[in-house]
Amino acid sequence: MNFWQQDIKYLTGVGPSRASLLEKELGIKTLGDLLTYFPYKYVDRTHIIKIHDIDGNMPYVQIKGEILSIESVGEGRSKRLIAHFSDGTGVVDLVWFQGLKYALNNIDLHKQYIIFGTPKVFGGRINIAHPEISEPKPNFNVDEPSGTNGLLSLSLVPSYNTTEKMKNSGLNSSAVGKLTANLLSMLNYPLSETLPDYIIDKYHLISYDEAIRNIHYPKNAIILRKAQERLKFEELFYVQVNILRYARDRILKYRGIMFSRVGDAFYDFYHNHLPFELTGAQKRVVREIRQDMGSGKQMNRLLQGDVGSGKTLVALLCALIAKDNNCQTCVMAPTEILAEQHLHTLREFVGDMPIKIELLTGSVKGKKRNQVLSGLITGEIDILVGTHAVIEDNVIFNRLGLVIIDEQHRFGVAQRAKLWQKNPTPPHVLVMTATPIPRTLAMTLYGDLDVSVIDELPPGRKPIETVHMYDANRSPINNLIRREIEKGQQIYIVYPLIQESEKMDLKNLEDGFLQIQSDFPQYHVSKVHGKMKPAEKDVEMLKFASGETQILVSTTVIEVGVNVPNASVMIIENAERFGLSQLHQLRGRVGRGAEQSFCVLITGFNIASETAKRIQIMVDSNDGFEIAEQDLKLRGPGDLEGTQQSGMAFDLKIANLARDGQILQLAREAATLVINNDPDEHSPENEIVWRRMKEIRKNNINWGSIS
Ligand code: ADP
Ligand code: MG
Repeated sequence: MNFWQQDIKYLTGVGPSRASLLEKELGIKTLGDLLTYFPYKYVDRTHIIKIHDIDGNMPYVQIKGEILSIESVGEGRSKRLIAHFSDGTGVVDLVWFQGLKYALNNIDLHKQYIIFGTPKVFGGRINIAHPEISEPKPNFNVDEPSGTNGLLSLSLVPSYNTTEKMKNSGLNSSAVGKLTANLLSMLNYPLSETLPDYIIDKYHLISYDEAIRNIHYPKNAIILRKAQERLKFEELFYVQVNILRYARDRILKYRGIMFSRVGDAFYDFYHNHLPFELTGAQKRVVREIRQDMGSGKQMNRLLQGDVGSGKTLVALLCALIAKDNNCQTCVMAPTEILAEQHLHTLREFVGDMPIKIELLTGSVKGKKRNQVLSGLITGEIDILVGTHAVIEDNVIFNRLGLVIIDEQHRFGVAQRAKLWQKNPTPPHVLVMTATPIPRTLAMTLYGDLDVSVIDELPPGRKPIETVHMYDANRSPINNLIRREIEKGQQIYIVYPLIQESEKMDLKNLEDGFLQIQSDFPQYHVSKVHGKMKPAEKDVEMLKFASGETQILVSTTVIEVGVNVPNASVMIIENAERFGLSQLHQLRGRVGRGAEQSFCVLITGFNIASETAKRIQIMVDSNDGFEIAEQDLKLRGPGDLEGTQQSGMAFDLKIANLARDGQILQLAREAATLVINNDPDEHSPENEIVWRRMKEIRKNNINWGSIS
């Protein structure tokens, strides 16, 4: 058996009970698992600070001085030892609750020590419980060589994440560190390389062996950085090789339907029905898509564009190209409301053109449903707009050529795959995202898709003015509502709806609704929430869309896609309970007409500092791409909307998509190089890569499922 797969329990210092703890708590089963369990931070043991500079927020400090006096305090279980330690700028109490005797025997008064530990400040006094104590070395500096067992002689000490259970059994960070040190000291030969030599040279990486040894026990800060870079690069490189390989295989495997013509439908619409000039970005994107669909390969394209950038129109133009090539288009939306909205918008766009657009959702039943189903089979229907209902097996198309998925993140990979199978040659796929995605995330989540970006809003849009207000003072909010309605505008008021506390949320919404009705008896108010029947919801939405009601009180059902250009105010209640991308989506419901629009974010008075940051980002920026970047920084990729449902395990061990954009870029470049230069995967110089890919696949990482 190879070294990597050896059972951890045979490692010195482990044994059966620790082995089972390591496996249960951290999933560490083998020596290889342990070596790739990386520290999450390093404690800098080169830095000594003055006692008068210590504050209670420091995670750890290192000080140098002497013990002035020692006393024993308390009796029985509360007995403890306190040593008063000073460096001339102040005094710190070193405290022992256990091992008092041992401590007492090992410290001397008035001798120079270096003390390391976590300071707590209590009533003006600083104490450090169970400090680490060492004697100063004659030359305490960064380049001190690391001994194999004396952790204290190191300058950068690794910290490993451990769980409460592990700590209770003595397996804390430094115990894990000792195991790693044992293992490394046993390895008296270099670990074999995991990247091809020419990649290592080209990107100036250090060897795998050096990286692994230094990621655990860095000789100094410079080599630590190199070790981190090397391991991050490698991790991202293999993710990218996997994605690119998958994309290439798909291109080889599936030919696409050739959309060779652009004809009557497209040009008739373009010249006679287009209600406004396309923006430059819309034109460019349509050109990109047209080329792609005409290439003979299957298109898999992501269309990114900020809220309100006009993705629907682009979708229609693509559907018309499909029509010109005798193909049907299926547009999928995540909710019934959105699907209906698309239906109306598309029908309005095409006007009296001979284009048949129909709807299929769970609510389309009986005779109507049968009509739609048969219209799809005969090919009479050109564009089908629907929800998940379109995936069902009995929905059969005559010739499905294009699938457009709107507000992508709510559709699973498996669902998309089912759509593919609805035509012998797989249809082209255009995925439109509701929210801009940071570039690094897009490269990983949608790394196999081609990307088109609409980076321009239709002309004449005024940036939405966003303000933060406290819920205690509603009069300025009511003044704004009144003023805008008197100008002929309409108002959205949105309440959060989170599953766990659905009842309470509903109550908030009902209360808010009654309050608004009593504050504004002269206006008509609509109410929409998830507990209503779809038909009831529609009635209310339509009333608002037609201007019959001036105010819409709702939950987040209106989050994506709803389009009422006459609405100019978006009021978000309990804004602290929304994520950034949701806030941006909601705000995007206004600012669609020529009028100045407003967004009011209402929160309680006491909000967490992270919430305050979110709100501030919203107040400062209208740019969805920038907001997405900030969101990624604030929360990390694992929490971002869409990543959990994406089908990709986001368990990167060391790379961080929020911070390692540059390394990702290089890793992508290197992966592209390997994939392009070695299409048959035979080249000896890449042997390492292909062997490793096999191992990665075997170890269940399901990256191939992203598409
Ligand atoms: P989103 O990209 O958020 O889906 P929509 O497609 O709903 O945006 O478009 C937002 C609004 O902008 C709609 O009212 C649409 O009719 C309008 N619109 C789209 N393209 C243009 C354009 N080129 N010029 C002016 N208005 C446009
Ligand atoms: Mg849209």
